[in-house]
Amino acid sequence: MSHLHEKDEVFAAAPVLPGVHRSTVDQDQLVFHLDIFLLAVLAFFTVITLPRVFTRFSRASEWTQGLFLYYAKLEAPPRPRRRPTQIRNAATVAARFGSDDAPMPDAHAHIPRRQIEGKRRSIAASLRTSFFFPPHMPALSTTAPTFARILRYPITDLTLGQIVLLTIYFSLLVYASLYKSSLFTDPLRAGFVAMSQIPVVVVLATKVNVIGILTEYGYHKLNYLHRYAGAFLAIAANIHTLGYVYQWTLEGVFYEKLQTNHVVWGFTATACCDVLAILSTAFWREKAYNLFLTSHLIAFPIFLVACCLHQPGMTPYVLAAVGFYGFDILMRLVRTRIVTATIHPVPELGLTRVEVPSLNAGWRTGQHIRLRILSIYGMGWWGSTEIHPFTIANVEKTPEGMVLMCKKVGDWTEKLFEMAKVAEYGEGGAGAGREVTVMLEGPYGGPGHSVFASYSGAMFVAGGSGITAAVSAVQELIRKDIDGLSRVKVIELVWVVQTHASLTPLLPVFTSLLEQSTMTTLRIDVYYTRAAPSEVGKMELPAGLSLSAGRPKIAKLLEAVLDCTLSITFGSKTSRGCLAGIAVAVCGPPGLGEDVRQVVGSVDPRRRNAVRGVELHEEAFGW
Ligand SMILES: Cc1cc2nc3c(=O)[nH]c(=O)nc-3n(C[C@H](O)[C@H](O)[C@H](O)COP(=O)(O)OP(=O)(O)OC[C@H]3O[C@@H](n4cnc5c(N)ncnc54)[C@H](O)[C@@H]3O)c2cc1C
Repeated sequence: MSHLHEKDEVFAAAPVLPGVHRSTVDQDQLVFHLDIFLLAVLAFFTVITLPRVFTRFSRASEWTQGLFLYYAKLEAPPRPRRRPTQIRNAATVAARFGSDDAPMPDAHAHIPRRQIEGKRRSIAASLRTSFFFPPHMPALSTTAPTFARILRYPITDLTLGQIVLLTIYFSLLVYASLYKSSLFTDPLRAGFVAMSQIPVVVVLATKVNVIGILTEYGYHKLNYLHRYAGAFLAIAANIHTLGYVYQWTLEGVFYEKLQTNHVVWGFTATACCDVLAILSTAFWREKAYNLFLTSHLIAFPIFLVACCLHQPGMTPYVLAAVGFYGFDILMRLVRTRIVTATIHPVPELGLTRVEVPSLNAGWRTGQHIRLRILSIYGMGWWGSTEIHPFTIANVEKTPEGMVLMCKKVGDWTEKLFEMAKVAEYGEGGAGAGREVTVMLEGPYGGPGHSVFASYSGAMFVAGGSGITAAVSAVQELIRKDIDGLSRVKVIELVWVVQTHASLTPLLPVFTSLLEQSTMTTLRIDVYYTRAAPSEVGKMELPAGLSLSAGRPKIAKLLEAVLDCTLSITFGSKTSRGCLAGIAVAVCGPPGLGEDVRQVVGSVDPRRRNAVRGVELHEEAFGW
């Protein structure tokens, strides 16, 4: 604590101006305790997450998953093992998952009944042999679904839960600012509060995030907290600066003060704060992402240096921030790989497929990496320095290695697509692809401590390029099921696209998934929202895959998954006691996420309890 007393002396040495009220409270101690309180809140969230942490890591295989990308030697595919799964109510499955008696509206293909019957028989005839389902620990949202539903209620671009958390945080800052003090007579207090929040803002911005490691939230899910904490810091810094400007102007000493170094550095720090806060707003992030990024790269280091030169007493807080950031950079370097990738254009989906054969393991489904294309020729000087996040589109340990699907939405993704197109239709010929050197950083994010294979049923709702995460999750469940490592027996994959043409490039993937799902009931429903059904000819689709016009009725689809899951038994007479809930994962634009959130929140409580919970996992593409 000695540094705190030293700091008090430093601040005490600052001249007390006439009319400026210096608080009698030990300001340093006050803001130090503010940070300790915030740490206690973090400890609370860590403790309530612990049961899920222990459950997940009770299996040794989880210890190494999702940390580092690497190459693993591929073994021959395992032979399917038989497990004691039974579908109690065959009619339920047949009705939803393919009976000709229950056609989907506007569907262009139906599953022939005999195929479903065959699949059902193969499952129902399974014998008791070795299997090892992962242990399941429901999320807190399952324990208190009504509470979770209220907290997930959307208000503007935040949920009620996020607003409550931000309100508590803001109230703490206000309390620390006003305790035995006044914003009008004691501008120093706001400076102390701003200083105490520097490490908080920085730790919330890091990719390898200490808070994310302790709780279940990846860095991109904590990003809203970083933005608001940064804004609160900027407000406090401005109150501090403007308070002194006001006092000095009244005293007529403003220009005199401007001659002193520590005041100039104070103004510099506040100006940096303002630049960071203004250029971080949604407007700039969406319209000029690079400006937002560059402003951070330049203004943030200047801000830290300016703080130390403004008041040396701020140095411990700045060093804490530098420590968090240094750890982040180090871990990011350790997680960085420079490899050769092959890029292919997929015009039907308006995206570029990136294949990295030399990295085929080390990620969990739903995780993303940050991609940099090291080609000045194709991407330009600026483009080759940019780094963009993309969800890994397949399971690990496949011959094609890691696959990314990068939809063209702006300059960078457009350039990548053009680069791939030139190669595809150039000398190498169609399908050859183009080899490029890429830098991959990650993996990050993912489903936290949830293990999809530990649930009884799963529903994936994907919008546009969000299908990448959903497909890899389904692939993993099917593969684990073949190995007897997945409890999931019912899978529904819903994909919403603009035109039916989007289905063509993914048809082989979907067909392969359906063929492999010999022991799991898989249904894939694709919905196109732009073309009229009359424009779409009759397409030859495999059993289990449907193509329909319009938007999906998510509530109805989820009810069907509930019905089927409730019909499953694991060798016992009823499903009671053997079910472990349904995971509903949504991956796509924020609007789709909200729809699914509402549907999950309004599931009949009795059915929810019967199936042991319906849990939502959101992976929104965007900041
Ligand atoms: C966790 C995560 C996973 C994602 N996974 C996929 C995926 O699998 N497939 C896919 O097609 N898209 C995915 N995206 C979106 C993808 O990263 C952006 O579409 C891409 O970065 C846009 O770059 P651009 O310069 O072409 O477009 P721009 O026009 O510059 O930007 C379009 C939008 O993307 C955002 N954006 C731009 N650059 C970045 C960046 N470096 N980091 C974060 N956001 C940025 C902007 O805020 C803007 O809203 C993902 C995004 C996130 C956050």
